[in-house]
Amino acid sequence: KTVCMAPASSGNIKVCVRLRPFISREEGERCCVLMPNDTQVLLDDGQDMSTSVRSFDYDRAYWSFDDTNPRCATQQTLMDELGEAMLDNALDGFNNCLCAYGQTGSGKTFSVLGADDPPESRGLLPRILQELFSRLEHIDTQAEQVQCHVSYLEIYNEQIRDLLLPMNEKPAKLTVRHHPTLGIYVAGLTTNAVSSYQEVQSILDFGTKARSVASTNMNSASSRSHCIFTFNLLKSGGGREQRASVNLVDLAGSERQKKTGTSGSQLKEGAMINQSLSNLALVINKLASFDDGKTDFVPFRNSKLTYILQESLSGNSKTVLIAALSPAFSNLEETLGTLKFAQTCK
Ligand code: ADP
Ligand code: MG
Repeated sequence: KTVCMAPASSGNIKVCVRLRPFISREEGERCCVLMPNDTQVLLDDGQDMSTSVRSFDYDRAYWSFDDTNPRCATQQTLMDELGEAMLDNALDGFNNCLCAYGQTGSGKTFSVLGADDPPESRGLLPRILQELFSRLEHIDTQAEQVQCHVSYLEIYNEQIRDLLLPMNEKPAKLTVRHHPTLGIYVAGLTTNAVSSYQEVQSILDFGTKARSVASTNMNSASSRSHCIFTFNLLKSGGGREQRASVNLVDLAGSERQKKTGTSGSQLKEGAMINQSLSNLALVINKLASFDDGKTDFVPFRNSKLTYILQESLSGNSKTVLIAALSPAFSNLEETLGTLKFAQTCK
């Protein structure tokens, strides 16, 4: 007798790619990425017409190359198609995780955080939280209450840094722990209760500033750390409680570290980034192909990144991967690597 097991988790993972416009240093270059429709990507290396075009398929391909094109996906498009669903899920009690992957300069931070000015360029994270608080204004607080707690951390060289640590406090060594009822958490991490979007905004600014200060002090670019913003919702009412957590992750740059000029600590740093990113792909790939009941075989604990994200990747959680792409021919190799990575996540 054949037992047909539906791949329960696969419907919970959405793999998207997003192509940004040229930036000034790429001026005059040829665009080597094409999107003939909303799911297909063609990469054209311009060498030989018969062999040079490679085709890839994803759940969604966002064309953000030129805003004169009616197909151009704006920050609002991503909010409509990804952010709203994440918020719906969270309010229904499902965990959510969104990871932005790609080489440095490909548009990861733009998709997650965006820019403050103009307001249309704000990314998914501020949009989701603004929408959360505007929805909460309309709930019947007699019937139910929703509490929101946020935290913001960075993983650099497999070490966790609290980005919301108050100025005058000394950083402690942070470790990932597993609690029998509360689940996986980072012991000692600052978590702030927030009750308005304005509060979130100032917390975001504080954390983002802390991130750039640290990267300067450590003489390393923030592009070499993973950054995780988490908000937890606790919904209560009618004698019931429901929890959900949402993680938005700006991953470390995926570029291969150049051999020249890279030695000692930098080499180690590069190896750790590669290892945690390939472990992430392995984890997502396993989750996509496994039935829910089998998730204990997934190597979550091989890196801090996947260990922290475990509960928002597994079970009934919803995961979105955004693979960020540069259109420039000079980035062809890295773009190919990103397209392949995204494919292994399916
Ligand atoms: P990363 O975080 O991957 O290093 P950034 O998000 O900082 O890359 O993007 C690099 C540059 O490209 C920034 O100047 C950013 O404003 C710009 N950019 C990225 N994506 C877009 C987009 N979809 N539309 C317009 N500009 C973008
Ligand atoms: Mg960035």
